[in-house]
Amino acid sequence: MTMIELEEDQRMILQSVEKISKERIAPLAAEIDREGVFRWDIARLFGEMGLLQIFLPPSYGGLEEDKTLMFCLCVEEVAKACASSALTLIIQAVGSYPIIVAANQSQRDRFFPRLAKGEELLGYLVTEPYAGSDVAGIKGTARKKGDEYILNSRKCFATNGGVASLYTVLVKTGEKEFTFFIVERDQEGVSIGKTEDKLGFRGSNTTEVILEDVRVHEDNRLGEEGEGFLIAMKDFDMSRPGIAAIALGIAEAALDISLKYACERETFGLPLIKHQAISFMLADAATEIEAGRGLMVEAAKQHDRNTPNAKIASMAKCFCGDIAMKITTDAVQIFGGYGYTKDYPVERLFRDAKLTQIFEGTNQVQRMVIAREMIEEMG
Ligand SMILES: Cc1cc2nc3c(=O)[nH]c(=O)nc-3n(C[C@H](O)[C@H](O)[C@H](O)COP(=O)(O)OP(=O)(O)OC[C@H]3O[C@@H](n4cnc5c(N)ncnc54)[C@H](O)[C@@H]3O)c2cc1C
Repeated sequence: MTMIELEEDQRMILQSVEKISKERIAPLAAEIDREGVFRWDIARLFGEMGLLQIFLPPSYGGLEEDKTLMFCLCVEEVAKACASSALTLIIQAVGSYPIIVAANQSQRDRFFPRLAKGEELLGYLVTEPYAGSDVAGIKGTARKKGDEYILNSRKCFATNGGVASLYTVLVKTGEKEFTFFIVERDQEGVSIGKTEDKLGFRGSNTTEVILEDVRVHEDNRLGEEGEGFLIAMKDFDMSRPGIAAIALGIAEAALDISLKYACERETFGLPLIKHQAISFMLADAATEIEAGRGLMVEAAKQHDRNTPNAKIASMAKCFCGDIAMKITTDAVQIFGGYGYTKDYPVERLFRDAKLTQIFEGTNQVQRMVIAREMIEEMG
């Protein structure tokens, strides 16, 4: 295992996340997947444990230091038990991050105490039907009128769209100018559109959120007009190591159960693990998980040190997403016909893994970022 030096209090946090994940979340994972319903009880549990508040200043319940690293390690632990539940942690961090990095003092005074309670969920509204990978292609607008902005946009694929009470929303305030706003779910003109019926992460709520002439006071604008794109990019530097963590958790769960199965199941008079074709798959999986963990930890540490980490964050997200897909595919193979049924959790892990190659920038987009950074480094 990648050696990660942690303080005593950090080890204790992780131990309690591991315990809760194993004892209270893992037993629900199959049901959550089958029913496809968002579990408020788990979200509340996270709030009580302080896991929804990690990135807030310590005076509001956030961690003192190593926030991104601790966030990733907690997400990985929860994802081993249930990826849908781990996504609740991710989107809370992603949705609140624009507020945490860009809020002025009066916004901090208004919103930090609310977030500190760990009772409300956030949504992050960027993607639109014709603008996913190309964030700059969004068409939603905020038109200034007196001391208010009038927001119009149809946002799609909003994680927590239907369960969040607060959204951070990116819209255009000029031809090539993007700005974040804080929008309350119960504001006039905000409505929930289609709820997505997804392949995996079925316990995560994903909806359209429609903004029709929503009046937002300028006090809810984050940063200056035009600063939104930069804030969104900063958010990626934190969230991509987080997606790497969720992917690793899924991969580790798949390896654990397929290793166990390979030791128990016999064919041709031998346990599967004694067949080299199977043992090599498992050896590769263990190696890839170690390599992915190294990338995730380094990306998180660089973020915590305020070192530009876009390249390694993309490497971590891309590599861990790809190996999660490969390792879960191999896990289904190791289980043979049984892996293709709902009697074992490998098919759920296989379905969940796919999303980690898609959201927070597809793995093609990650490779574009890595290549761009390499070109920049070359001058
Ligand atoms: C379950 C789920 C939850 C999500 N949660 C959120 C959320 O909370 N908030 C939010 O704002 N968004 C969210 N998203 C949106 C997600 O980030 C986008 O789906 C993702 O960025 C891809 O955009 P797209 O779906 O429009 O694909 P497209 O951009 O249409 O891409 C389609 C395909 O083309 C490839 N491609 C595109 N451009 C290029 C290129 N230049 N070179 C090579 N290949 C390219 C892509 O990699 C992809 O394979 C979520 C999505 C899902 C599925």
